Amino acid sequence: MRAAVVGGGIIGLSIAAELLRRGADVTVYDPAPEGTEGAWHVAAGMLAPAGESVFEFPQLERLLAASNELWPAFAASLGDVGYDDAGTLGVALTADDVTEMAREWKHQGLSPLTGSQLRELAPSLSPRVRAGVFAPTERQVDPRRVVRALRGMLGGRTVNRFVSDVSEVEADVVVVAAGCGTAGLTGLPIRPVKGQVLRLRGEPGLLRHVIDGAADGRHVYLVPRADGEVVVGATQEERTDSTPTAGGVHDLLRAALDLVPGLAEHELAEVTVGHRPGTPDNAPVLGTLRDNVVVAAGHHRNGILLAPITARLIADLVLTGKTDPIIDDFTPGRFGCA
Ligand SMILES: Cc1cc2nc3c(=O)[nH]c(=O)nc-3n(C[C@H](O)[C@H](O)[C@H](O)COP(=O)(O)OP(=O)(O)OC[C@H]3O[C@@H](n4cnc5c(N)ncnc54)[C@H](O)[C@@H]3O)c2cc1C
Repeated sequence: MRAAVVGGGIIGLSIAAELLRRGADVTVYDPAPEGTEGAWHVAAGMLAPAGESVFEFPQLERLLAASNELWPAFAASLGDVGYDDAGTLGVALTADDVTEMAREWKHQGLSPLTGSQLRELAPSLSPRVRAGVFAPTERQVDPRRVVRALRGMLGGRTVNRFVSDVSEVEADVVVVAAGCGTAGLTGLPIRPVKGQVLRLRGEPGLLRHVIDGAADGRHVYLVPRADGEVVVGATQEERTDSTPTAGGVHDLLRAALDLVPGLAEHELAEVTVGHRPGTPDNAPVLGTLRDNVVVAAGHHRNGILLAPITARLIADLVLTGKTDPIIDDFTPGRFGCA
């Protein structure tokens, strides 16, 4: 079996690595195989299977949960990629913030915690934090380290090439996994959704858990790495430009410092902009597009979380023509394609 994967982002590389592991002859095509193109470079790496997305497209919940189950073994197969299962604290600052966050917390069936219970778990939280929850199954990973590990596994199998037409690619099966670039290659309705993300650096240990919170109506998450980096995300804008804006950075910093005042001493090390590959229902497109062409794209806010299940389902499809029926809600057919 000769398989080609168009797109060397986290989804394309995860699929290619799984195909290789199962004995296929795989080639990945990407115009920047060692570069930082792609949403994965910006993504925080929250593995949050019960986030806002499940309200937009309820069938997604099962897929997110199934992929979350696969993450421990997937991470172990990649080496040290910053996979951390300390869990997430959902937090809210004002009464209005509690009301807003409560919808997600209730859906997850989590017990409410008071501000002081939260500060026992995370002493750097502001004394103004009023309520929250502990979500033990919401974890994190460093997407940059994941991509580095996958690139290492696929060394020598990546061709430096921008594909402008799928028919140019010679293989038994072509998998299109080009993130936002998938629209131009397939005609599928995948749009870029701009997100700005900050990386702060300071002494390790300020935070142990991921913090996912609301502060005066601003939603923010803080993802602490073991080396002292704290990723602060993210804006969500229906725009295609790549410009970091004063307003975007202000909103993120304001919310972050409202929740964890000690972050004020951290270095503002990076401001990055990425584009989530969104679809009309904001769920991914997974399945056969036409003879010998399979698509795996449109992962929007959850592409890091969904990498292991996408790799497994698409590798099954490519190698056997069949896969788990969990994929049925995500086929390109729902957009009138295939
Ligand atoms: C601000 C932000 C925060 C996020 N945070 C999280 C998070 O915490 N958790 C989570 O699960 N997800 C998160 N995501 C979402 C996640 O990053 C994406 O869903 C995921 O990266 C999609 O993976 P992908 O491989 O499909 O696309 P990408 O990562 O965008 O990679 C696409 C690749 O395709 C290549 N390509 C494009 N066109 C072509 C072509 N014509 N020919 C060849 N190659 C091509 C590009 O060069 C690139 O390498 C976030 C995204 C953003 C923007």
